[in-house]
Amino acid sequence: YATLSAVVKNHTSAFDGKEAALLVEELRVNFNTGRAKSYEWRISQLQNIAKMIDEKERCIAQALYQDLSKPELEAFIAEISNTKSSCMLAIKELKNWMAPETVKTSMTTFPSSAQIVSEPLGVVLVISAWNFPFLLSVEPVIGAIAAGNAVVLKPSEIAPATSSLLAKLFSEYLDNTTIRVIEGGVPETTALLDQRWDKIFFTGGARVGRIVMAAAAKNLTPVVLELGGKCPALVDSDVNLQVAARRIIAGKWGCNNGQACIGVDYVITTKDYASKLIDVLKTELKTFFGENPLESQDLSRIVNSFHFKRLESMLNENGIADKVVQGGQTSEDKLNISPTILLDVPEASSMMQEEIFGPILPVVTVQKIEDGFQVIRSKPKPLAAYLFTDNKELQKQFVQDVSAGGISINDTVVHVTVKDLPFGGVGESGLGAYHGKFSYETFSHKKGVLYRSFAGDSDLRYPPYTPKKKMV
Ligand code: NAD
Repeated sequence: YATLSAVVKNHTSAFDGKEAALLVEELRVNFNTGRAKSYEWRISQLQNIAKMIDEKERCIAQALYQDLSKPELEAFIAEISNTKSSCMLAIKELKNWMAPETVKTSMTTFPSSAQIVSEPLGVVLVISAWNFPFLLSVEPVIGAIAAGNAVVLKPSEIAPATSSLLAKLFSEYLDNTTIRVIEGGVPETTALLDQRWDKIFFTGGARVGRIVMAAAAKNLTPVVLELGGKCPALVDSDVNLQVAARRIIAGKWGCNNGQACIGVDYVITTKDYASKLIDVLKTELKTFFGENPLESQDLSRIVNSFHFKRLESMLNENGIADKVVQGGQTSEDKLNISPTILLDVPEASSMMQEEIFGPILPVVTVQKIEDGFQVIRSKPKPLAAYLFTDNKELQKQFVQDVSAGGISINDTVVHVTVKDLPFGGVGESGLGAYHGKFSYETFSHKKGVLYRSFAGDSDLRYPPYTPKKKMV
């Protein structure tokens, strides 16, 4: 996606290194007043986010439609209501999260008590992606505010309507002495990355993730990298096929039309079972999106012509066209590609080597279902991995042996809605995690604090180290 980011026009006036430095300085001064640390401030800002979502739900859905033709119900479920429930959880749990945790002490410190005390990190930067541009911007900001930080959000320029709406709503609803939005693309993000932050939370691709991590390293700034990858769905032959197919479709085309970090990237099944699975996928696709899915109102469009061409060129690669078993129709005007399924595409093709991030689903076949593990392991660790089977032994083996950011058994993507599960990648799919309490922890430092009195001051620890003391 490099070229695209480089050519997308800057939506705000020039925001350069000087302005970025001034912004961070101002936020640091405001953070240092201690304002953002108080429970009352945190709660008031979280309540304002909840109010903003309630009052501007329609504007948010409209912006998402403008950026991605995201169907209203999908926008509501995946972005608006999901963000609101994270915010409500933070409001409900904040007191508990902020409470110091008492822990055991050691013989050496007897008598004493000890606590883990959470403290905000300071001034933090959130950089987000275009595919769920509201959720991926506001969800980390909720964590940053809950933990008492000053925060700058840099939404994606590739979803410009949502980006400018966020800038407007944040200035209207939130305390701008400590919470800001900076819009823009590569130059603005570069100017921001040149500053000293107390944490950088990045959602996007691994290529830019490396740029973020290198910039952060200059100041020893910790990072969270929420990246992507090729998320597999392994389908055994003992499944309820209709349910499995519907859930695969929901986790592929029903999820921003395949443009989702945890969307199903490819399916693996056995040679014997592939045609059965593909037949049911075809039937259910027709039920969901009709005879002519290019006209369906229930599918998001491809975000822009750069990504349309990227996907089209994957389909136009040598030896790919005759692997299409469903779909393959494209409309450049509408930035649409119909739900497309391919069977056994060459492993060397970019479709099997790169994250697809679009409505194309290759089905890979193996002799035995267990061989699918090796297919998954041969690629960088994915952000999510899915297994469909009733076989408990296989489920256990999958959980133990497949390394992925997260796993759903007999479903796709919905593990992301469980706020008590950490959400984040491993290896090439990312570093760090958030959601629920994990968001709070991600933006906090856990400070170990030991309390002693003046009692119990043993001579043992002090020189002179006499032979008698050594014997003890
Ligand atoms: P991207 O990496 O191109 O851009 C992400 C952000 O980085 C944007 O705000 C962009 O302005 C900025 N950026 C782009 N190029 C930059 C550069 N050279 N220097 C500094 N900043 C730069 O990613 P994207 O195209 O917005 O999103 C797609 C990728 O994000 C996919 O790989 C997807 O899997 C991943 N993703 C991950 C998650 C997750 O939660 N783990 C969620 C959504 C998307």
